[in-house]
Amino acid sequence: MNKEYDVLIVGTGAAGLYGALQFPDDVSVLLISKRELSLSNSSLAQGGVAAVLDTINDDYQLHIQDTLTAGKNKNNLAAVEVLVKEGPSDVLRIKELGVDFDLDEKGEMQKTLEAGHSRHRIVHHKDSTGKAITDALIEAVRKRPNVDIYDNVLLYKLEKRAGGFAAGLLPENGQASVVTARYCILASGGIGRVYQYTTNSAIATGDGITFAYMLGAAIRHLSWIQFHPTAFAAENDRERFLISEAVRGEGAYLLNCEGKRFAHRYDERGELAPRDVVSNAIMLESRATNSEKFYLDITHKDPAFIRERFPMIYEKCLEEQIDITKDWIPVFPCQHYLMGGIDVDLHARTTIDRLYAAGECSHTGVHGANRLASNSLLEALVFSRRAAEDILQRMKTDTRTPASEESPDDLSGKQLPHGYRTEIRRLMQDCHFVIKKPEAVPENLALAKNILNDLLNGGYEINRDYIEARSLATVAVIVLEEVLKENDSE
Ligand SMILES: Cc1cc2nc3c(=O)[nH]c(=O)nc-3n(C[C@H](O)[C@H](O)[C@H](O)COP(=O)(O)OP(=O)(O)OC[C@H]3O[C@@H](n4cnc5c(N)ncnc54)[C@H](O)[C@@H]3O)c2cc1C
Repeated sequence: MNKEYDVLIVGTGAAGLYGALQFPDDVSVLLISKRELSLSNSSLAQGGVAAVLDTINDDYQLHIQDTLTAGKNKNNLAAVEVLVKEGPSDVLRIKELGVDFDLDEKGEMQKTLEAGHSRHRIVHHKDSTGKAITDALIEAVRKRPNVDIYDNVLLYKLEKRAGGFAAGLLPENGQASVVTARYCILASGGIGRVYQYTTNSAIATGDGITFAYMLGAAIRHLSWIQFHPTAFAAENDRERFLISEAVRGEGAYLLNCEGKRFAHRYDERGELAPRDVVSNAIMLESRATNSEKFYLDITHKDPAFIRERFPMIYEKCLEEQIDITKDWIPVFPCQHYLMGGIDVDLHARTTIDRLYAAGECSHTGVHGANRLASNSLLEALVFSRRAAEDILQRMKTDTRTPASEESPDDLSGKQLPHGYRTEIRRLMQDCHFVIKKPEAVPENLALAKNILNDLLNGGYEINRDYIEARSLATVAVIVLEEVLKENDSE
């Protein structure tokens, strides 16, 4: 690893990888991931990427309208237009880079339908689209001579310097060092791990959002969180994997603890209502039946079809001793996606000079108050490319300031006490889950603030556990403060 780079990109999900690929050979890029390169929300994506690629049966206006309707018209229209109109060429570009999208008999990309979309426009690779995308992009990045890519390297500090940033990096099994970069793109993903139950990868602890917040960047709508109605509900395990909407799309029934269908009692669209409506129906039914046991039943479909259409879900459930061709799948809602984040403009610029954000950690406004399925990978691609384009434009007139000599940090300190992360997760699950509990917010906020205060002032050793705990506490405080303000103004 060098000591100086033109661009530091934090994150090897769709946003970080695709952003890195935009820079020509004479721009040095450092791309890092705090865990294995493939551990990200991007690599977990199942359904696909939404894009208007069939201009006979679909058009931009329809995709824009579907996005606004799902987002409850709280979207930034200009950002939605950029997403929808520029997205198709980014999808074609990643196909060129080697993403193995499923093709139809004519050799064109298969396009499927998902809830909230008025046309078939989701391109996919079976039920593991995200892995197909990240695998291909990682391979493409590895071929770039100007990109240094490192796994298991944690960003533990991000500070402003004249003409750029100083970034503290801590390898999993090595010595910490401080590098400088003229520009930084945060592509560090979401915040799912602030909840007890989430579909998100273990990396989703809101680190990038916390670094941006500590630098004074504007953070927007962090309390706009999407919950998914059907994550696998393991009996004795906090880990949740997604049982995609497509399973209901293919006809699965949602059953309560008595084995009865109930979704149509809450909304006439039944199991196919939007995810927030179905999540709400489950929580209300849970209260009515005094049980958290819910199931998806797709056993009435042909077993060969199920195995072919949902190979990953079939295998993952089998690991939990559930054969989905014969057994009901236990499910329950959980945290899934963050609509808000580090506020950025149409070029992915944050309010801090030279700092950009793209993907799930950012708030472009494309999703409004509720994300339309399969729009997030598209957002990651479009806005990371735009960030890179803006940086390249700026570099034309930006004179390189000599980097300051950075001395290493002393990261030693006390051991983190047990239980802070568990407590933060409990607070968030308690008051800001599918059905909100406004009366619990003031007390939970005070508890989260106490934890954050201790983390900031307790003299703890700086390592991944500490950085993640601090991020989770910061995120909880920002979310609950925002909720409190909204509750007070109502
Ligand atoms: C189960 C599941 C299914 C989904 N299905 C779909 C779908 O079908 N279609 C769709 O459009 N969207 C889907 N989504 C959402 C979508 O996958 C994500 O929103 C998107 O991929 C986020 O990409 P990203 O690049 O912003 O972040 P991520 O892919 O999460 O990557 C974040 C990166 O940041 C790194 N990082 C974080 N903090 C640090 C740090 N301190 N130091 C160093 N590195 C750090 C991580 O190591 C990781 O490499 C799904 C999400 C989940 C969880």
